[in-house]
Amino acid sequence: TTNGVRNKTDKEGLSGGLLAVFVDVTDVRRLESLRRDFVANVSHELRTPVTAVLSAAETMELALGRDPEGAKRFLAIIERNAARLQRLIEDLLDLSRIESRELRLRSERFAFEPFANHLVGMFRERADKKRVAIKLDVAKQVEAEVDRRALEQVVTNLVDNAVKYCPEGSTVTIHAEATTGRERGIRIRVADDGHGIEEKHLGRLFERFYRVDAGRSREMGGTGLGLSIVKHIVEAMGGNIDVTSTVGKGTTFEIKLPDASTRIHERGSTRDLS
Ligand code: ADP
Repeated sequence: TTNGVRNKTDKEGLSGGLLAVFVDVTDVRRLESLRRDFVANVSHELRTPVTAVLSAAETMELALGRDPEGAKRFLAIIERNAARLQRLIEDLLDLSRIESRELRLRSERFAFEPFANHLVGMFRERADKKRVAIKLDVAKQVEAEVDRRALEQVVTNLVDNAVKYCPEGSTVTIHAEATTGRERGIRIRVADDGHGIEEKHLGRLFERFYRVDAGRSREMGGTGLGLSIVKHIVEAMGGNIDVTSTVGKGTTFEIKLPDASTRIHERGSTRDLS
């Protein structure tokens, strides 16, 4: 009987244990595989520009003194790739900051039009090169009351994608309007008339490393992190983001952000005083 009891206990223990282990392993495996994918992606993205910097630096050393024009070209390669590395590192740091909830937002009220104008200026060279027009459709009086840097990062990312994935001769439009009522704040749309995205991808677009066409994204210097960072930031700001797209017609990202003061009111006890 002692044996019998022990066996029974063992059996139950075993099956319970097996079940628990099974669940754990599935979770652990999934996380482990996500982590592996992440590391593999990051390594790949880092390796390409680092290799370019090193070989350009080496060749430049040989060209110095003998071929100043050639040396300048290699310097440009170094600069371009270092900038790409910086972007990737910034993306990774952002992601880790957001994941550890270290994103501190400091809201201020500012006019959207000059903000967007400045932002468009940063894209001018790249957009001109690709003959992509960036248009602003924003009334002078539209204001935002959010963290300026966070908004800059969000809109920059969306415009960057539009310029990146649109064919030559496309138009990107940044539209903004005030929203009233309970959702007092700002609604911003970044729209392009490029290739569009098939519907089956839309639901997964904001996932980390999700790319419609991985080869093309990497070739364009993309990390697959941009939209997941955008979504996280927008949500940290109390807003939301949506995408609509029609193949052959283009893609529109729409962000709705509440005014920071509205958010404080909604959370605080003074909410119903007016
Ligand atoms: P990536 O670094 O690859 O650009 P993102 O997270 O920013 O990563 O975007 C995910 C994918 O969504 C891109 O790889 C691209 O395929 C697609 N995408 C994003 N914006 C657009 C757009 N405006 N038009 C077409 N495809 C887009």
